Amino acid sequence: MKIYICSSNRGKLREILLAADGTNFEIAPLPNLKNITPPEETGATFEENASLKALYYSRFTPEIVLADDSGLEVNALDGAPGVWSARYSGPDATDETNNSALLRNLGSTAERSARFVCVVALARTGEVLQTARGAVEGKILPALQGTNGFGYDPLFFYPPLNRSFAELTPDEKLVVSHRGKALRTLFEKADTIRT
Ligand code: IMP
Repeated sequence: MKIYICSSNRGKLREILLAADGTNFEIAPLPNLKNITPPEETGATFEENASLKALYYSRFTPEIVLADDSGLEVNALDGAPGVWSARYSGPDATDETNNSALLRNLGSTAERSARFVCVVALARTGEVLQTARGAVEGKILPALQGTNGFGYDPLFFYPPLNRSFAELTPDEKLVVSHRGKALRTLFEKADTIRT
């Protein structure tokens, strides 16, 4: 079965392609994605935004499309940045400015528990076929640690491996990450979709 990924986030793209390795799915980026204006992410939840993106991009191809909406929920910040994770430090946000904003807003708070959440959705020609959610618990570090991954990975400490997500290899991250969990569930569900 062919599935087109509709995300231009290179970190996500790499991880989704890696997760699809060894499955029966023929996964590739949606052709011409860079010429398609992205939809406004108006949802209040990861579920809403993942479905909204999958439905939107499913208008551009007869094949199945896969959308990922994900982010970081920090308990001491009442769940922020949440669905605003990509734009936490404003419309021109980068990973660097987002990480700085997070450290600034947390200050010296001792309560640093947080989770990454990922919802993935499959859609075909205007219909959502399946969604799946994954989450992983960790703690926000006081300073960046590690250079792998993307986004908030250098600030996300994962106690069971005693390393930040940016200190894991791509394979190690995928085994435990929110995205790895969501995708494994989604690929199982996708096996039941009629082509
Ligand atoms: P989205 O494109 O609206 O889903 O935004 C997702 C944002 O959440 C990304 O731009 C990152 O800032 C953050 N994020 C999601 N997943 C990860 C991850 O696996 N590692 C680090 N940051 C992530």
